Amino acid sequence: MRLLWLSALACNGNAHALLNYPRFEEWQEDFEWLYHPLLPSTHTLAEVEEGIDGVEILLVDGTLEEGLVKNRLAYKQLFERYAVEAKYIVTVGTCATFGGIFAQGGEGRSGLHFSGERRHGFFDGFWEKTLSLPGCPVQPEVLAGTLSLLRSEEPLPLDTLHRPKYFYAHTVHDGCTRNEYFEYKIDEHRFGALEGCMFYEHGCQGTFTHGSCNKILWNGVHSKTRAGTPCMGCTEPDFPREGLWHTSKRMGIPARLPLGVPRRAYLSLAGIAKAFHIERLERPMMEDKRG
Ligand code: SF4
Ligand code: SF4
Repeated sequence: MRLLWLSALACNGNAHALLNYPRFEEWQEDFEWLYHPLLPSTHTLAEVEEGIDGVEILLVDGTLEEGLVKNRLAYKQLFERYAVEAKYIVTVGTCATFGGIFAQGGEGRSGLHFSGERRHGFFDGFWEKTLSLPGCPVQPEVLAGTLSLLRSEEPLPLDTLHRPKYFYAHTVHDGCTRNEYFEYKIDEHRFGALEGCMFYEHGCQGTFTHGSCNKILWNGVHSKTRAGTPCMGCTEPDFPREGLWHTSKRMGIPARLPLGVPRRAYLSLAGIAKAFHIERLERPMMEDKRG
C-alpha cells in the first residue's frame, strides 16, 4: 500500500517512535513510502510538490498553522491536493489530531479536524475518511497496526473522535500493574519505584485517558506507569493539561475521577477501601527484609 507522510509543525517524535517498532523492517515490506521525511522514499519533497500519483493513505503529522509553507508550497494546498485522492487520511499523533503542544505556542494552530476538544470544520469534507491516532508520540504498535488493518481491509470501528476502538476503547488504567494499589488507595509512590498508584497524589491520568499503553507495551517492553511515572493523558484532546505530576483536589477528592464513575459511587468505594489496612501493599516490597 502506498503511503505519503506530510509533516507540518512537528518534532519528528512520531517518526522516531515508528523506527523503534520491533517488527519495523518486516512490517514495512507491505508498504511503499511515496514520501517520508526520514525514510527511504520513492519521491523527493520537490517531486511531491510538483505532483505525484498513487497516494492511498495520507499520513498527516504535526500541528497545522495558518499560512504554513512547506518547502515552496502552502501546506494547506499540498494537503488538499493529496487528501482528495487518498483512500484514507490518518492523523499521526496528538499535534495532527488535536493541536497538541505546538498549538499552545502560537495563533492559528490546530489539529486537522480539532482545536483541542472543538471540531473546527476547516476540512469537514475529509472527515469521513480520516482516522485519528493521537499520542505524544503515537505508540508505534498503534500506527503500524492501524495501517496493516487498513491494508487488509479489516473492519475498524471508530469512537466519536475517529480513534480506532481496537486501540483506544479502554483506558491506560486497564492493564496497569498498580491496580491493586489503586483499589486500596495507596499512593506511597516514589518516581521509578515499583509500588503505589499515582492517581491520588501524583497526577496519574490513566483512569480517564484512552489508550493501550498497559496492554500493548511500548516496543514490547514497558509503559509509563510500569516504569514509575504517571500517565500524562497524551491521547486526549485537552493534552497537555497544566499541573502534571500533581493531583488537583476539591475538598480532598481528586477533581477528575475515573471515567464514568459518579462522584457518589467514588466516595462510597473510597470510604470502604480506606477502612482496610493492607500491610503487604503498604511496605516497599523490594527493600523489605521480611520477604
Ligand atoms: S498508576 Fe495510574 S494507571 Fe496505574 S493503577 Fe494508578 S491510576 Fe491506574
Ligand atoms: S501512558 Fe499516558 S502519557 Fe504515556 S504514552 Fe500512554 S497515554 Fe500517553
